[in-house]
Order: sequence, then structure tokens, then C-alpha cells
Amino acid sequence: MDVTSEIAEAIGDLQLKIGRAAELARRPTKDVTLVAVSKQQPADKRQAALDAGQRVFGENRVQEAQNHWQELRQHYPDLCLHLIGPLQSNKAADAVALFDVIETIDRPKIAKAIAAEMQRQDRTPTALIQVNTGLEPQKSGIAPVEIGGFLAFCQEEAGLPISGLMCIPPADDEPAPHFALLKKYGAQFNLPVLSMGMSADFETAVQLGATHVRVGSGLFGSRLPRH
Ligand SMILES: *Cc1c(COP(=O)(O)O)cnc(C)c1O
Repeated sequence: MDVTSEIAEAIGDLQLKIGRAAELARRPTKDVTLVAVSKQQPADKRQAALDAGQRVFGENRVQEAQNHWQELRQHYPDLCLHLIGPLQSNKAADAVALFDVIETIDRPKIAKAIAAEMQRQDRTPTALIQVNTGLEPQKSGIAPVEIGGFLAFCQEEAGLPISGLMCIPPADDEPAPHFALLKKYGAQFNLPVLSMGMSADFETAVQLGATHVRVGSGLFGSRLPRH
């Protein structure tokens, strides 16, 4: 099979599985968006996904995302790009210029830098707070107990509207409790967007309330090494 049909089939298959998981949870399928994680994937596969009608993509590095999408953006004005990797404040301008959703707001300095750039560029990407549900020291994101305080800081002090939460559960944990926790905090703080679930666990995430699932290798195959 050629790359184009392979990717089209993979996207169709994922949409079917998302639909089934949503149905099990009595949720409308349209409430769940597939974010195709295109980091470290070759150009022909990204193009194949576009050809299949996929428009929502996730990238975890600002510069790599610019390389992947800056040109294509001209041809696909309905493209929707999610930043799903950690953000440095010196990349805030580039991030606000390129991304439609920034999922990894996790400290005051970043919240302020993003808010300032939004004002300067008159662009308002959707912002999510990354939550470190597993309290892993090496992982980005704020601790669950800090959500309330950080949310207030973002909205009241930094002037950054927040639409939802994102999490990456520990690799060797059962993911369901982490998804349930994120859902609980989303409801508690009235944040409707929940980005959770990856290739291995997106169906569980959909059943537990994900509005966005981030699927990379399960769609495109294994990633190329970074240079
Ligand atoms: C790479 C990445 C994904 C995709 O992971 P797969 O297991 O390949 O689906 C999802 N979320 C984040 C934050 C990532 O960095």
C-alpha cells in the first residue's frame, strides 16, 4: 500500500475507534478531536494526512513545527496546530505566531510571556494548563493542588484566558485514574477542554472525557530519530 492510502486508512481506523469509545460513554463523537502528532515524521506522511482531510496536528518543538508547517499553512488556511511540548519564554513570540492551541502553560513566566505576545500580535491561541498528574519530577506541568492558584494567576494577573487542561500520565502507570483526575479538575474549575490520551490509551481517555486525543506513532508509525 502507498503512504497516502496507508495514512488515510489509519486515520479512518482511529476515527472509528474514537467513535466507538465515545458511544460507550454516551458522548457525541464530534466532541472529540483527533490531534495527529506529526513530530519527527517525514513530509510525505504529513502530506498524506492532509490529503486524507486531517487538519489538526500536534508538535512538541516550536522550531520543528515551523519547519513542518510554516509553508503548508499558506495552502491550508484551516490548519489547526497544537503545541504539546514544553515551552521556553524566548520562544513565546514564535509559538503565538504559529500555534492555534498552546497546551503546555505550566509556570507564571510562560503565562506572562504568552499573554504579552498575544496582545502584541493580536492573536489569541487557545491556552491549556499542563498538569503533572503523576507528580513526576522530570515532567513539566503543575501539581494538581496548584491548579486553582495558577489558574487565578493566569486569568487575573497575566491576562491569559485558559480553556482547559492537558496531562501526560506516567509511562508505567495505569492511565485511567490520571484521566479521571484531569476530568474532575476540569469540571471543578469549569474548564471544558481536556487534552489526554495518546496512541496506547486514547480510547480510555475518550471514555473518561477527553475532548482532544494526541496520537502520533499509532497514526504515522515510528518516529525518525532527531539530529
Ligand atoms: C509525542 C507525544 C504524543 C504522541 O505519542 P504517541 O505515543 O506516539 O501517540 C502525545 N502527546 C505528547 C505530549 C507527545 O509529546
